[in-house]
Amino acid sequence: MAGEGADRPRLVVLGCGFGGYSLLYDLHRERWDATLITPRNYFLFTPLLPSAVTGTVEVRSILEPARRRLRGVRVLEGLAETVDFEQRRVTCAGAVSGERFSVPFDTLVIAVGAAVADYGVPGVAEHTLKLASVEDARAIRRGILEQFARAEIPGLDPEQVRQRLTFVVCGGGPTGVEAAAEIHDLIHEEIAQSYPELASSARVVLVEALGRLLTSFDQALAEYTLQHFKRGGIEVRTSAKVTAVEKDGVRLLGGELLACGLVLWAGGNAAVPLLASLGLPLTPRGRLAVTPFLGVADHPGVYALGDCAAAGEPPLPATAQVAQQQGEYLARALDRGRAGRTVQPFKFKAAGMLAYIGGGQALADLPKVKWSGRGAWLFWRSVYLTKLVSPANKAKVLFDWLKARLFGRDLSRF
Ligand SMILES: Cc1cc2nc3c(=O)[nH]c(=O)nc-3n(C[C@H](O)[C@H](O)[C@H](O)COP(=O)(O)OP(=O)(O)OC[C@H]3O[C@@H](n4cnc5c(N)ncnc54)[C@H](O)[C@@H]3O)c2cc1C
Repeated sequence: MAGEGADRPRLVVLGCGFGGYSLLYDLHRERWDATLITPRNYFLFTPLLPSAVTGTVEVRSILEPARRRLRGVRVLEGLAETVDFEQRRVTCAGAVSGERFSVPFDTLVIAVGAAVADYGVPGVAEHTLKLASVEDARAIRRGILEQFARAEIPGLDPEQVRQRLTFVVCGGGPTGVEAAAEIHDLIHEEIAQSYPELASSARVVLVEALGRLLTSFDQALAEYTLQHFKRGGIEVRTSAKVTAVEKDGVRLLGGELLACGLVLWAGGNAAVPLLASLGLPLTPRGRLAVTPFLGVADHPGVYALGDCAAAGEPPLPATAQVAQQQGEYLARALDRGRAGRTVQPFKFKAAGMLAYIGGGQALADLPKVKWSGRGAWLFWRSVYLTKLVSPANKAKVLFDWLKARLFGRDLSRF
């Protein structure tokens, strides 16, 4: 293993997401004794996760095994539980066995991402599915197919069928919008052919507490999405606050029960539990407050980036773009710092935002251009194809798109 026994600084990175992975990939790894601590042994390209729900791309096509391209990095599969900043050690629980182990560090980078926020709404933990991991994508896909199987049972009245085939997505941000669009595509482009008698009972409802969808996008693009959804048959309920999620539906402020068979909760980000236990400065939203150099104040050699860190005022958004740029920046900064060279503060370069809105259409909210429709969808696809981290990912995703186009998506329930 590179680094063992050498007099190189011990760098420990927590988390193999956009931030941690890009940092380790860009680092001059031969100059560091680098360890990655990660509960999963791969990097996940989340922007295409909604497409994995519906099988437009295969889950494996958007994963990159952590060990393959991070040569020279020791990968330990575990969850960081505590950090002793005096002794400079991280204590972890093994991802598979739960066994405890600890790892010493000279430099620590915290890049543990975010959890899904439930805003204290009762029933979210018990009765909803989330969309943040491979397991989530698989559970949603299975859940949709299960509801069709349940709706086919003979003897149900139309109301029961309708309830089982109502899919509610809570949260009108990019994840909720893309998930609603993909589920709607799956039902109407694919499932409808296998269950022609049930297709007209199926509906997708997108619920958003605020007055509009996609608040981080340009207003005109958000309005376009609303009209596009209405035309396509996705019901949008804005200014509809969810007060509870029950076994058979979503309760809205005012008392209405939106009866449904499956609820997907896309409510936004919350802090991962590790952060509160670290004793480091946190923002009111529970993110780690960092300096313009992504360092943690009064903790030399400790850095944080990506969704778990709040850099700048107001803090930069929790996006892959920010996390990736911060990872690349910190790789350069650490290498330069080691070589005794000066380091500039981190500067974010906004490249714009993209979202898939279903029916072969997308949004591109770019610094100089606001674009929607089919052309934006081709752009969306080509951007993500170039952003996928490895040539293997790119080839697999391209092949998946072609496969889905030629043969349709697979509807086997497993
Ligand atoms: C469905 C979906 C779609 C998205 N689409 C887009 C998009 O189109 N564009 C965009 O810019 N952003 C998108 N995002 C947001 C983007 O994924 C995040 O902003 C980005 O992943 C943040 O990178 P990160 O490195 O901070 O965290 P992550 O990529 O989440 O990685 C954090 C890693 O830390 C690990 N971890 C957690 N706790 C611990 C611990 N205690 N010890 C060790 N490791 C730990 C996690 O397992 C994870 O691997 C999307 C997110 C989702 C869920």
